[in-house]
Amino acid sequence: MTRSVLQERAGRADLAPVRSVTILGATGSIGTSTIDLIRREPHRYRVEAVTANSNAQALAQCARLLGARMAAIADPAAYGELKSALAGTSIEATAGPDALVEAAERPADWVMAAISGATGLKPTLAALRRGPMLALANKECLVCAGAVFMREAAVRDATLLPVDSEHNAIFQALGAGHRDDVARIVLTASGGPFRTWPVEAIRAATKEQALRHPNWSMGAKVTIDSATLMNKGLELIEAHHLFGMPSERIDVLVHPQSIVHGLVEFSDGSTVAQLGPPDMRVPIAHCLAWPDRLASSAARLDWTKVARLDFEQPDTRRFPALALARSALETGGAAPTVLNAANEIAVRAFLDARLGFAAIAALVERTLDAAARDGVLGEPATIDEALVVDQTARSLATALLPEVAAKDR
Ligand code: NDP
Repeated sequence: MTRSVLQERAGRADLAPVRSVTILGATGSIGTSTIDLIRREPHRYRVEAVTANSNAQALAQCARLLGARMAAIADPAAYGELKSALAGTSIEATAGPDALVEAAERPADWVMAAISGATGLKPTLAALRRGPMLALANKECLVCAGAVFMREAAVRDATLLPVDSEHNAIFQALGAGHRDDVARIVLTASGGPFRTWPVEAIRAATKEQALRHPNWSMGAKVTIDSATLMNKGLELIEAHHLFGMPSERIDVLVHPQSIVHGLVEFSDGSTVAQLGPPDMRVPIAHCLAWPDRLASSAARLDWTKVARLDFEQPDTRRFPALALARSALETGGAAPTVLNAANEIAVRAFLDARLGFAAIAALVERTLDAAARDGVLGEPATIDEALVVDQTARSLATALLPEVAAKDR
């Protein structure tokens, strides 16, 4: 690259107007990394609103550190604690599910959607409707109501920036050619802590073992999903909606080093990939500054030490959750919504020691079968319809849980 191009790029970043941002799910793993990046370049950002579920002290601390205008907490019982933790500041404190939607609706150029689970749907949609740049970490929006979200994004002319490292990698690699020339996309998976374990050992895996991810540091739910490979299954569904690709043109490869995050194969045989350290600050920085770049404190890869890059086919016999997710994507309609809801119930039960590791996928499969029998797999036309299916699937999974847990013992 010539010196003049470098100077032009540097100049553009310096002159970029201050970006107003809102962080939904500010106290979580993604929220904390986002805050870390913003605090390194405070002159580039002004924080409008931050939200959390019930952790009032952590939310007040985020709001104070960032000089946010509003802090919204979902749990109404936490309002008093939030209010007193913000005493002496001009930060507005609000509480309740409506307060989260209100926070999302406030004028911000850029919104990070990092609330975990299906509860993230309404606030994220509220943010999307304003048509800003939406950095999407919450997978459930696309998994539970992908068609609704993508339609709304198109109508509002919103820019969707994928935060998930694999989708962010694909997003970056797609810039190398025309959409029509893409032959297939490949999402990589670390394989999780049980990649090399035999099926019987996986069946007996404990919570502590499942939470020990070899490469990434993440919230508990997504870490368990990485161990079952359901995370990759949810990402498959996410990728289908984000990039408008059919299931047969989205592949998954296990790549234990977690250095290549995603690949795009073009029709001429060229493959373009994005590589980086397994640190969520890299894709978050990409979204935060997009279309510019932001200096991140993430460790740099030392290429002389990257001795090898391995790729292998995922084993869906040992990790059936991935096959269940692909089948739900191909079934379409509300099958992905049911898959996601049943998985949330199953992971919660596993974390509470009410369900064995192998029974997570078993419960999801039984719930999908029951939902098909009950005729609840029609395509949700709105977020409210998706949330009704979500609740129905949760009830089905909860009812089936004791039987599935007993069978697994
Ligand atoms: P965490 O569990 O670490 O944080 C979740 C955030 O959402 C917290 O701020 C939490 O508040 C808030 N929250 C949880 N439940 C509710 C609720 N019912 N109402 C309102 N707010 C709520 O999750 P992560 O940061 O790990 O993940 C966030 C999303 O990003 C998930 O959808 C995940 O799949 C996705 N993702 C995460 C990655 C990662 O590396 N962590 C990678 C790619 C995607 P409180 O602190 O009060 O509980």
